[in-house]
Amino acid sequence: MDCIFCDIIKKKRPAKIIYEDELVIVFEDINPQAPVHVLVIPKKHIPTSIDIKEEDNALIGYLFQIANKVAIDNGISGRGFRLVMNCNREAGQTIFHLHLHVFGGRIMHWPPG
Ligand code: 5GP
Ligand code: ZN
Repeated sequence: MDCIFCDIIKKKRPAKIIYEDELVIVFEDINPQAPVHVLVIPKKHIPTSIDIKEEDNALIGYLFQIANKVAIDNGISGRGFRLVMNCNREAGQTIFHLHLHVFGGRIMHWPPG
């Protein structure tokens, strides 16, 4: 199976990793859209959010805990930040390994494009 994010997890592909444990890895987006733009991903290969199963519930909750930690560590938790998970092509998903975008450090606009 060809997966860029699994390659980052296996250290076969370079990335600016800012946090890692046995369940998740966090790294900087290669094409940042905000002063803070990192991706929080599970080490388990789940292609999209529609593939999340009941057995993954704790893992997905943990993903949000880690996203919060990233926001706090970067000083954006009080100012505000945005969490995004694109699902499938019309939503703009380009990498089919579940990932939570953490955006912050600038004013976010709504509605999104
Ligand atoms: P999506 O469009 O699937 O929601 O988000 C995929 C994100 O992964 C994009 O923001 C894109 O810039 C980022 N990305 C794609 N390839 C790489 C890569 O090789 N390394 C890193 N660090 N980010 C990547
Ligand atoms: Zn993968």
